[in-house]
Amino acid sequence: MALKHDALNLGQGFPNYDPPLHLLNLVKTNLDDHKNQYAPMAGVQTLREALAGKVMLNYGQYVNPDQEITITAGATQAIFTAIMALVHPGDEVIIFEPAYDCYIPAIQIAGGKSVIYTMEAPDFRVNWSLVSAMVTLKTKMIIINSPHNPTGTILREKDLEALSRIVRDTDIIILSDEVYEHLIYDGEQHQSVLKFPRLFERCLAVFSFGKTFHCTGWKVGYCIGPEYLMKEFRKVHQWNVFSVNSFVQYALAQFLADTDQFEKLSRFYQEKRDFFLNKLNGSGFQPLKTAGTFFQLCSYKTISSLDDLNFAKDMTIKYGVACIPVSVFYSDKRQDQLVRFCFAKTESFLASAASRLCAIH
Ligand code: PMP
Repeated sequence: MALKHDALNLGQGFPNYDPPLHLLNLVKTNLDDHKNQYAPMAGVQTLREALAGKVMLNYGQYVNPDQEITITAGATQAIFTAIMALVHPGDEVIIFEPAYDCYIPAIQIAGGKSVIYTMEAPDFRVNWSLVSAMVTLKTKMIIINSPHNPTGTILREKDLEALSRIVRDTDIIILSDEVYEHLIYDGEQHQSVLKFPRLFERCLAVFSFGKTFHCTGWKVGYCIGPEYLMKEFRKVHQWNVFSVNSFVQYALAQFLADTDQFEKLSRFYQEKRDFFLNKLNGSGFQPLKTAGTFFQLCSYKTISSLDDLNFAKDMTIKYGVACIPVSVFYSDKRQDQLVRFCFAKTESFLASAASRLCAIH
């Protein structure tokens, strides 16, 4: 619709700027350097080694690059593969809604049953004793996502500790979607499952270079977990994908040598968030708190009584700004009159979109 109506697209989550020039140059160099044939099934060795170093530096956890890391065709493939490998017909999987849209279809294809914990606007916090009451003997997996799409909330240390207590003495696997690990603001630290030994021993954690290095179209990500789970993961990966494009993997391995870039990334996106919020000042939109991700939720209650889907359509057609209605992230399509804007855009783009938003009353 954004294309059809020539609207500024703050809907789907992708940057409107290029990856770092040095990374682009490394990709070109590796193409010229004949890195054009199949990579190993688990991924290029130097990339897995660089990632093991990154995990040790960021999260203090040793992961074995040979047995505990697999490079994937983006995080979506990693999530699908993890669910196919571990969820079987009749198994229950606890998910938190609003939820990123690829979890439920994958659970359905695997023959599992989604058991939904609903997080309530405006702060979308998790009450872990209620989660604990949802666990049954059939619970196979719990899927968490922090920083969280679409709400921009994060799980803190006490959340992961509570989760740890729930799964202690069970065989429940944690699938942790951490694609926004480096997009976290206001001095907060990302709490990866990899930092918590009791969670690491039962997790598959999923990451995406697309979000981190502004290259969503390259579709390269990775999955980390203990060897006994990674073995199962690779049984599906081998026959589904086999291996991911090679030259990008070599380039990413070389690019990861600069370990300072992750801190810069948080600052880069925090400035964008604050720029966008500043420009929205005085509009009828009420922003919710964004602690991480490149998404900003806004309430439009004072502007319109339309449901969010129709409001988002109106926004695209009449006001020239595309956004995502938050009800689509809930199975029950609940109405909180919230829309999601992506602020991974240049300042001039954000300023133009915000001035259109400020004109809506
Ligand atoms: N998980 C979440 C929470 C996401 O927002 C996205 C991308 N929108 C993905 C996974 C998928 O990442 P990728 O593009 O690497 O498949």
